[in-house]
Amino acid sequence: MIGGGLAGCEASWQLAERGIDVTLFEMRPVNTTDAHQTDRLAELVCSNSLKSDQPPSASWLLKEELRQHHSLLMQAAERARVPGGQALTVDRIAFAEAASLAVEAHPRITLVREEVAAIDPEQPTIVATGPLTSNSLAEHLTRFTGSDRLFFYDSISPIVDAHTVDRSIAFAASRYDKSLDGTGDYLNCPFNKHQYERFIDDLMAAQAVEAHIPGDIPYFEACLPIEEIARRGRDTLRFGPMKPVGLKDPRTGRIPYAAVQLRQENLRADSYNLVGFQNHLKFGEQARVLSLIPGLERARFLRYGQIHRNTYINAPTLLTPTLQMKAHPHVLFAGQICGVEGYVESIATGLLAGINAAALAANIQPAPPPRASAFGSLVHYITRADSKNFQPANITFDLLPELETRVRDRKERHRLQCEKALHDFEPWLQAQQAASSRQN
Ligand SMILES: Cc1cc2nc3c(=O)[nH]c(=O)nc-3n(C[C@H](O)[C@H](O)[C@H](O)COP(=O)(O)OP(=O)(O)OC[C@H]3O[C@@H](n4cnc5c(N)ncnc54)[C@H](O)[C@@H]3O)c2cc1C
Repeated sequence: MIGGGLAGCEASWQLAERGIDVTLFEMRPVNTTDAHQTDRLAELVCSNSLKSDQPPSASWLLKEELRQHHSLLMQAAERARVPGGQALTVDRIAFAEAASLAVEAHPRITLVREEVAAIDPEQPTIVATGPLTSNSLAEHLTRFTGSDRLFFYDSISPIVDAHTVDRSIAFAASRYDKSLDGTGDYLNCPFNKHQYERFIDDLMAAQAVEAHIPGDIPYFEACLPIEEIARRGRDTLRFGPMKPVGLKDPRTGRIPYAAVQLRQENLRADSYNLVGFQNHLKFGEQARVLSLIPGLERARFLRYGQIHRNTYINAPTLLTPTLQMKAHPHVLFAGQICGVEGYVESIATGLLAGINAAALAANIQPAPPPRASAFGSLVHYITRADSKNFQPANITFDLLPELETRVRDRKERHRLQCEKALHDFEPWLQAQQAASSRQN
């Protein structure tokens, strides 16, 4: 197992729980990446949100399938949960600690803190080295896969010290009052028109970090830096990450002109991240521009937004629906490097790679998950997407198959898609669990 991140921990655990001995190679802290800050396994490098946990959403469905499969990381997330409205939001330290403790204590897992620079195709291997795969392994992969590495860049959002947010301006609320416990899980910084216009002017004039990045490399649309969004039109941010809908400023009783939402970062609620505010401005410029946000005039930033690399293989040309390489069936890929995007998607492909590798170890041909399920839809996407324009994807209803009958109401359609997914998932799950108990 190469890589002790989200996919690597889940895959190792699934293998070990099926009676397979695993050697897990994790290069941190000997080598590190631009985004990881600790030596813990399963570190969340940016947001602390595992997205919606509210049915019927595609992200909920994926989590539900993981939970039904006794995912280690879903259990860790549950233990580390903090208030986050309808999202599954976690204390990142508690989450990584729970995962690390479980993996390190497992009698079948041997953790080796070492960088792996090459793959032996005869050795059963799962590659889960993530978007920040070390350079030496990435270079090896270029040759090993016979395809070009694909790089693109996205960014991470800033974190602010909660005690320095001006609470006489920033107010607690969830959009449309949809809080899990009724207390209002986000802090909201409201803008009037004048404040918004000033903010946009300063944002557009701010200097970005020197680009050591080729200009023609596309950003992943879901992670666009705010300065890039602002360049697309003065109001684009107001309809994107700064949208005020569903929020009422208690000082005016009205919906603000725009708003920045701050999401709780940890259980102590002493830090918040600026939702959707990823950017790659120089740190000094960020300090100046972000202090124009009402309520953050005197805020202390614990981390500024940053830019980072993303490495992934061309899965449609390289992988089978069981995440095995077509050319080297003992080698499987999981996590962001296999062409999915997101924490939960990485965990899900880790789980699949783990159970598939366990089947191979028992000389059983693994069975891909059913097409209608969220697992099956992810695998279908990465193995069947257009290889020429292949880009990593989050789980969405677009990836799930359409229903046989047309249902106009969106919510009802999504409910039925979830129902069908879980219905088809059940027999596959039973078969996996039966195989697992035979292996133990
Ligand atoms: C900066 C950044 C911000 C992101 N923000 C979000 C977000 O907010 N929300 C979201 O859903 N997704 C986000 N993602 C995308 C993705 O969900 C995460 O990167 C996720 O951690 C991917 O899981 P993974 O298991 O594939 O990789 P990782 O969790 O990164 O794990 C890979 C592990 O492999 C190790 N490794 C790398 N090379 C080697 C080697 N040669 N030998 C041994 N070990 C090696 C690394 O140290 C790391 O521990 C972000 C990605 C990045 C890079």
